[in-house]
Amino acid sequence: MQRFDDEVSEPFTERRTSDNTRRRSGKRCPVCLTALGKNKRRTKQLGFCKQCQAHPTQKRCRGCAQPMVWENKHGAACQGCALVGTKSAVIQGPPA
Ligand SMILES: [Zn+2]
Ligand SMILES: [Zn+2]
Repeated sequence: MQRFDDEVSEPFTERRTSDNTRRRSGKRCPVCLTALGKNKRRTKQLGFCKQCQAHPTQKRCRGCAQPMVWENKHGAACQGCALVGTKSAVIQGPPA
């Protein structure tokens, strides 16, 4: 019954690479990686995550400077470069 320790010690880097791929796919919420549904017409991915309440914003990412940041109440993530973290870590401040 000590299997839990094995899971924790699994290599972190591989896991992170595949998460980043999914984060940038446009088919998943970049914040929590939940698969996004389609809208009624099924032509576009939903621009809203039911799971964590994240939504796309026009705010720019600190990592890639693209306006592809999603945010929710607790944090933010970039769909362009897969940067994820707190809002202050992901979102560029307003121009000085
Ligand atoms: Zn989400
Ligand atoms: Zn980015």
